[in-house]
Amino acid sequence: MSKSLSAVCKLCRREGEKLYLKGERCFTPKCAFEKRSFAPGQHGRTAGRGGKGMGTGRTSDFARQLRAKQKARRIYGVMERQFRRYYDTAITRRGLTGLNLLQILESRLDNIVFRLGFSSSRAQARLLVTHGHFTVNGRRTDVPSMLLSEGDVITVREGSSKLFYFKELGDYAEKRTSPSWLNRDIKNMSGTIARMPERAEIDGSLDEQLIVEYYSRR
Ligand code: SF4
Repeated sequence: MSKSLSAVCKLCRREGEKLYLKGERCFTPKCAFEKRSFAPGQHGRTAGRGGKGMGTGRTSDFARQLRAKQKARRIYGVMERQFRRYYDTAITRRGLTGLNLLQILESRLDNIVFRLGFSSSRAQARLLVTHGHFTVNGRRTDVPSMLLSEGDVITVREGSSKLFYFKELGDYAEKRTSPSWLNRDIKNMSGTIARMPERAEIDGSLDEQLIVEYYSRR
């Protein structure tokens, strides 16, 4: 999924909040949302709060559910059809469907690369994976959407570790913290999934209950 940089920032304006889709830039004054936090046009100022669909009662509920789903989709960079598949998988798993869904999203290879601090954004992680710079359990893969499990080991491919980006990676990764559900080995440019994240370890601004409600009514 290729998008121009400005198109990415439009997603933040559409949601009415910063989604941190462009890595380091999101934390600088260059962030487009800092300059203008609403989408252009007549409905721009209300778009992030439900936009044209925002009303009362049933419509309002639907607007909130839709926005919650779209926000999660945009943060993780997942297309609608695949997101729906994740939801269908989440239902079949034991436990809370909403948490299952978030754990599935967190277990994507591109997300893990990002969480390990090996990229500044999920979009960059997707690109690195697509270019074949990582192995999973010793096997090269170029599938960003690959779902990983407890015990899986992600490593920068030997040939790739000689590239300038990965030579500099150690210093960059040192500055970024990695969640406690991942064991990171910066020296060897690898990481292991120690366990699946608990709810408190996943973005608290996501509302998985609204996402479940969105799909439950369809
Ligand atoms: Fe763009 Fe990041 Fe700012 Fe969003 S948070 S508007 S992606 S720079």
